[in-house]
Amino acid sequence: MDKEMSYGKDYKFIPATSLSSGVGLDVLSDLYFHTIQIVNIVLIGKPNSDHFVLVDAGMPLSADEIISTIEKRFGANKKPQAILLTHGHFDHVGAIIELLETWGDIPVYAHELEIPFLTGKMNYPDPDPTVEGGMVSKMSAYFPNEAINLGNKVEVLPADGSVPFLPEFHWIHTPGHTPGHVSFFRERDRALIAGDAFITVKQEYLAKVIMQEQEISGPPRYLTPDWNAAWESVKKLEALKPIVAVTGHGLPMKGDLLSESLARLASEFDKIAIPEHGKYVDGNLH
Ligand SMILES: [Zn+2]
Ligand SMILES: [Zn+2]
Repeated sequence: MDKEMSYGKDYKFIPATSLSSGVGLDVLSDLYFHTIQIVNIVLIGKPNSDHFVLVDAGMPLSADEIISTIEKRFGANKKPQAILLTHGHFDHVGAIIELLETWGDIPVYAHELEIPFLTGKMNYPDPDPTVEGGMVSKMSAYFPNEAINLGNKVEVLPADGSVPFLPEFHWIHTPGHTPGHVSFFRERDRALIAGDAFITVKQEYLAKVIMQEQEISGPPRYLTPDWNAAWESVKKLEALKPIVAVTGHGLPMKGDLLSESLARLASEFDKIAIPEHGKYVDGNLH
């Protein structure tokens, strides 16, 4: 199994961090998020139980931190029942090979259209460091974009929208940031795990990332090639009227702040999210 799995050739540690790095928080009694440098992982399941899943797999070289976060919350030597991937960008699969080597036989699920990027068949487009924004946009030239290869470890999410091991959740296809990007939603308490479909920090600006200044934002600009699809995805998520959202970057957002911010993002996505220039918008829109 190990031989089949490999990171892309441009895989590397990225020296970027934030004040929330290493910090975790109960968003709901069974929903926990933890920030690895500049990206969030989510744990769904009651503390100390055997029934929980991990959503996304952190930054490169963060496996030890993810494992200790899990053991602190669920108990020594515990492992999740599955890893669910919102998408396959390097900062969401950064530690997945070490995690799978540690945990052995747990399944990984992703959307069908994301599988080529997770099985070494297709690389993501190059990041666009020319897109407007700050230092993180400029740094993005160094971000890995080559496909990881998880071989036969990655499976397609069930076509009926159900989520393995999470009977109350369903997945929603939210493409734009990547072709097979998904979000996860639970009707009962309107809890949303949005991935990078929208985020709550202006990820392009290093100072805002470091401070984790809360501000609704579209997907990270330097890595989003399809802005029309990304807008449709935000509208789809807004229509669910989530009450709490954990996003791939930034602090969780709740209540009126979430509903008002998300409504504004859905109606003014062209102003708030879509960059005015950049290689994925120039000559591409209209
Ligand atoms: Zn991403
Ligand atoms: Zn991300």
